[in-house]
Amino acid sequence: MKDDTCIFCKLAAGEIPSATIYEDQEFRVLLDLNPATRGHALILPKEHFMNIFEMPEEWAAKAFALAKRMSGKMKEVLGCDGFNIVQNNGAAAGQTVFHFHIHLIPRYEHDGAGI
Ligand code: 5GP
Ligand code: ZN
Repeated sequence: MKDDTCIFCKLAAGEIPSATIYEDQEFRVLLDLNPATRGHALILPKEHFMNIFEMPEEWAAKAFALAKRMSGKMKEVLGCDGFNIVQNNGAAAGQTVFHFHIHLIPRYEHDGAGI
C-alpha cells in the first residue's frame, strides 16, 4: 500500500528523482541525502511499511538478503574497509522517516563517522 504523504514512497516509486544505485520490482536503493560516509545508501521497499514490526516476514527476508548482496557489491566498488548495516525502528531508536529502510554505510579507516 502506498502512502501519499510519505516521501520515501515517492522516492521508491521514482516520483521524485534520486541517486539510485539499484532498482528491481520491489526495492530501490539510493544514496542518502545526508551521508554519514562516502557511498551511504538506503534500501527502500516500494511498499509502505512504517517499520520492521509492520512488515511481513517475507519482505523483511528479501530486504536483508538485498542488504547482503548490496554491501558485497559496494565493498568491491568503493573499496571500503568495513560496513555498518543499520535499521532503526521508532523515534526512540533514532528513526526519523517512518517508511522502513536499511542503511548501508561503507566505513573507511579513520573516517570519523559517529555511528
Ligand atoms: P532514519 O533516521 O529514519 O533511520 O534515517 C533517515 C535517513 O533518510 C537519514 O539518513 C536522512 O539523511 C535520509 N533522508 C531523509 N530525507 C531524504 C530524502 O529526501 N532523500 C534521501 N535520499 N535521503 C533522505
Ligand atoms: Zn512510504
